[in-house]
Amino acid sequence: MGRRTDVCAGPENRPYREAWDAWDTAYEAWLQHCLDTAENAAEALSAVYEDEEARTTAFDALGLPQPPATPAEACVLGAPVWCSRCRARIRGALGSIGDLAALLESWADGHRGAASGEQILSRRASTPSPSPITDTLDELYGRLAEVEAGWRAHAGHQTRPRRSRNAEARELVLAYLQAHLDEMLKHPGSVTFGYEVWVWERRLRTLAKSDPVVRKRPGRCPRCRLVNVLRTRDDGHTECCDCGRLMNEEEYQRDVVGGADTAVVAESKEARRAS
Ligand SMILES: [Zn+2]
Ligand SMILES: [Zn+2]
Repeated sequence: MGRRTDVCAGPENRPYREAWDAWDTAYEAWLQHCLDTAENAAEALSAVYEDEEARTTAFDALGLPQPPATPAEACVLGAPVWCSRCRARIRGALGSIGDLAALLESWADGHRGAASGEQILSRRASTPSPSPITDTLDELYGRLAEVEAGWRAHAGHQTRPRRSRNAEARELVLAYLQAHLDEMLKHPGSVTFGYEVWVWERRLRTLAKSDPVVRKRPGRCPRCRLVNVLRTRDDGHTECCDCGRLMNEEEYQRDVVGGADTAVVAESKEARRAS
């Protein structure tokens, strides 16, 4: 039994693929060894080259070593590219990408819009790329739109008019991809896309957990009166990491943004820049 071509492209078959890659290498080395050591091997080989069994017998008769044993590694079959578990995982990851992108965007907006108080200082014009989140979401959109355009061309769907890169455009691309995902994942070209979706999900999740610049919120804590202490939590609440004061968005707007004066905004901005 040779290497199967109908195995799932997912990570669960990595051991299978690696075992067969190693076998391919060993087999080539074996063939080369036979050719190097037997004078008439080339002739015997060419006569039976396509028939693995006959070839082995022929080589045996010439007193050559047996070929390496084929791997016994188990595999998960995919029909025709991915198994059902991997298809579900890709679909789930695509959904998470949408959720994570929306969450990250709300943080990025919180730093640029009126809510942050930053607008008072009109920094936006001079800083076209205000956060790594904006850059990442922009890159994400570009890539998703590319996949959508590719699939539209392949499936004979009408091309979508050019859209500006905003949240709505991203949602439209994601909706299109979700709607056609079953078909897409039957295409051999979806191997790259599937892994890419997983990588994107991991990347956004990491960003959502660890980006200190974006997760910080400007302003003075209404309780302990310190600046540079407010953070956005995963649940969307704003928390003071000094005194532990927890605010929902409404309270943040009222007690922090509403209570801010220009000096505070400048001070908090300064502190953020220094951090
Ligand atoms: Zn799979
Ligand atoms: Zn506080």
